[in-house]
Amino acid sequence: MPSFRVLIAGGGIGGLCLAQGLRKAGVDCTVFERAPDIVRSGYRLHMNGAGGRALKECLPENLYELYMQTSRTTPRREVFVQLDHLGNELGARPHIGPPNDPVRPHTAVNRRTLRQIMAVGLEDVIRFGTTVTGYEDDGDRVRVHLDDGSSATGDVLVAADGINSVIRRQLLPGVKIVETGDRGLYTTAPLTDDLAATLPEALFDGFAQVLGPDGAMIVYGVFQPRRPIAEAVAGLAPGARVDPVDPYIMVNLGVVADSPFGRETPDLWQASAGELHDLMRRASSGWHPALAGLVEHIDDSSIFPVAVRRLEPTDPWTATRVTLLGDAIHAMPPSFGAGANSALRDAAALTRALTTAVDGRAPLLSAIAEYEAEMRAEVFPVLRASADPRAYDMDFTPVDVPVPGRD
Ligand SMILES: Cc1cc2nc3c(=O)[nH]c(=O)nc-3n(C[C@H](O)[C@H](O)[C@H](O)COP(=O)(O)OP(=O)(O)OC[C@H]3O[C@@H](n4cnc5c(N)ncnc54)[C@H](O)[C@@H]3O)c2cc1C
Repeated sequence: MPSFRVLIAGGGIGGLCLAQGLRKAGVDCTVFERAPDIVRSGYRLHMNGAGGRALKECLPENLYELYMQTSRTTPRREVFVQLDHLGNELGARPHIGPPNDPVRPHTAVNRRTLRQIMAVGLEDVIRFGTTVTGYEDDGDRVRVHLDDGSSATGDVLVAADGINSVIRRQLLPGVKIVETGDRGLYTTAPLTDDLAATLPEALFDGFAQVLGPDGAMIVYGVFQPRRPIAEAVAGLAPGARVDPVDPYIMVNLGVVADSPFGRETPDLWQASAGELHDLMRRASSGWHPALAGLVEHIDDSSIFPVAVRRLEPTDPWTATRVTLLGDAIHAMPPSFGAGANSALRDAAALTRALTTAVDGRAPLLSAIAEYEAEMRAEVFPVLRASADPRAYDMDFTPVDVPVPGRD
């Protein structure tokens, strides 16, 4: 099938990884990305063995190495640790996912850096500033409609356009978006040596969470690349558009709807950056001086609100030339840091499926059906675990997802 072409709606975490995988396999693709460029859409992403393996499979060797070198330094303990507001450790649990690399584990990345790395070499493939509005599937080819009134045709269309996916709404209109009511604030503080010296050691573990007596929750994640980003880029992908990033600590406020703090928290989208910063101060008031003091270091310009939403796992559907990956089909709360890892996992699996079809080793729709069945079997349990009300409890280890050390 020499002219086989894959259309990808969305150039986020999963869409870019798929494009890299297809390019590596010699399969033609185009990515339609609504945003004008790779813009800020979050900070630190926890990486696990599932996401790391997918990147190894899909990226050329130099970009995989760049991802590894620009990942955070290996933490003392690769665990999710919980502290009380006075800084005392209450418990810790392993992250979920398949076993990590014992020598140089997958740790965490700066989201925009990972996306910039995944865009290297795809300049001729990504169409920025292009919004997908819908599609037609005549059984032989798929036509995707774009917001400028034009369209493009291909053999397969992949919905990699996130939780609000227009493709999913057309393909599977019954899938519901669940508004959990929980909200949060994303912020970062520059991680200087002086600041680091004041912080409890546990904040340098895989991920740390502090729960205040009124239900205010702050989660902390260090990002300190293994090698300075500019130096790693110069060594591994000279000239690539990957911006330097100074070390930081992500300090995210979790506003659980059903908590005293949550009930008193005003509309985050109507507040100024200064008011949001004050809310962080209120959340941490009376906490251990280092934890409360850290809030003073937050960069006002880094603060933005997020609403926690997810999808319901849906019943199996009949495979067509239109398929889905990542948040478009299994958006989940961030409780296990597994959404991006799952999107990457899907991208690698779909690359394998489509390559099988292109090589003539399986009929296209069978390959897609197999990909979708495996994705439902592997990722829907992760979605269910992430949506479980006990997801933030240290003694909650979901039974049907891999947990290193247990499996
Ligand atoms: C607070 C928070 C913390 C998180 N932390 C982690 C973590 O530590 N680890 C982890 O694994 N996951 C984490 N996640 C989840 C992770 O962010 C997502 O699961 C992941 O980004 C999904 O990748 P995706 O490619 O499916 O979607 P996205 O990365 O959201 O990409 C979708 C892309 O599609 C584009 N798009 C949308 N509509 C259109 C359209 N109509 N036409 C063209 N383009 C379109 C968007 O601009 C975007 O670039 C977190 C999520 C949240 C909310």
